[in-house]
Amino acid sequence: MEDLVLSNARVLDGRGGIAERATVRLSGDRVTQVGRGVDTRIGGPEGIDLSGMTLMPALVDAHVHLSSYPTLPPPLRGEEPRTEALRYFELANFARDLASMGVLTVRDVGSEGDHALHLRQAVQLGLCPGPRILTCARIVSATSPGCRIFGTMYRPADGPDEVRKAAREQLAAGADFVKVMATGARSVVLENPETAQLTRGEVRAVVEEAHRLGKRVAAHAEGLEGSRLAIEEGVDTVEHGLSLHREPALLERMAENDQTLVPTLSTFHDVSEDHAEKYPCALVGQAERQREEAYETLAAAKAAGVRIAMGFDSYPLGQNARELVRMVEGGLTPMEGIVAATSGAADALGLGDVGRVERGSVADLLVLDGDPLSDPAVLLDAERISLVVQGGEILVAAPRRR
Ligand SMILES: [Zn+2]
Repeated sequence: MEDLVLSNARVLDGRGGIAERATVRLSGDRVTQVGRGVDTRIGGPEGIDLSGMTLMPALVDAHVHLSSYPTLPPPLRGEEPRTEALRYFELANFARDLASMGVLTVRDVGSEGDHALHLRQAVQLGLCPGPRILTCARIVSATSPGCRIFGTMYRPADGPDEVRKAAREQLAAGADFVKVMATGARSVVLENPETAQLTRGEVRAVVEEAHRLGKRVAAHAEGLEGSRLAIEEGVDTVEHGLSLHREPALLERMAENDQTLVPTLSTFHDVSEDHAEKYPCALVGQAERQREEAYETLAAAKAAGVRIAMGFDSYPLGQNARELVRMVEGGLTPMEGIVAATSGAADALGLGDVGRVERGSVADLLVLDGDPLSDPAVLLDAERISLVVQGGEILVAAPRRR
């Protein structure tokens, strides 16, 4: 593969740095040089002039569900029944939608059955375009009402030994990390998201098991007690975590221990506003209160210096930067939002060479005809995406590019 030289762009390095009229050289799947003095002649690389454009790392989303969203309307009476296999075509479309919008790394925190594992393999084998996928396989949960609603997305387990076994099963199936339900879910009428759902011993067992094997743990945690158990027992990422503004000491502890908050503001907008008609009134009212708390926690986490990672937890897939826009509306600067959606999320996933533009980093890049620092919503506009580079190869190039 010939080297690629991208010159004269405003470069955001994904860690808060900006370089004006900089040049980025890619060799193979890596960034090999960033700066003004890149020699564009050696080796005769292909060169692209990006004057007036912004080059940044491709987006990283720390909280998606790849198989949870509808695409087809239900069949009309008398129409041919829909085969289950259609699901795989839908998954391939979701993967393409993500990649085409420059979302090149996603962490799937729960899909039906083995869908995320299958899609990960299909993308790796080049059967469809798509992002780098990290998956938890099934979510480890206490036996709970949610198990009846989410079915094969969950692996029910009770007691430290069974929870440990459940974690091992996920890793045996190919999981990249382990996800646990530290509390119940806001989307289940019979669950109270305030109380802890796992015991301290159960959380401890799963963290110990995963960490011993070099894997990370993501904890779904809405109420304060479950969040406390998860943080104190050393999970790596706290998903939602909306109650944490009530106890700033826990946020300080997260900052000290290098734990990440994934605020998922969009999911609260979904249940309270955008898709409220699909939920019972009690859940809509609860989500309205939770939405306010989630924004309070985002501000408190920023003040405490907690690492924040973008997690859309919503759909349509590909529009993940809506979460970035909401985090900026919630008080992050646009640069802080971009860091959360690139190196912050990558670090939360343990991917130290992703989500940044620096010598040696993976060449997953996004070039925008616009300035996301003055208007982060340019990330939502397909027409403003001039280039998507994945592993050093151009995946998307806008035809009208100058
Ligand atoms: Zn979720």
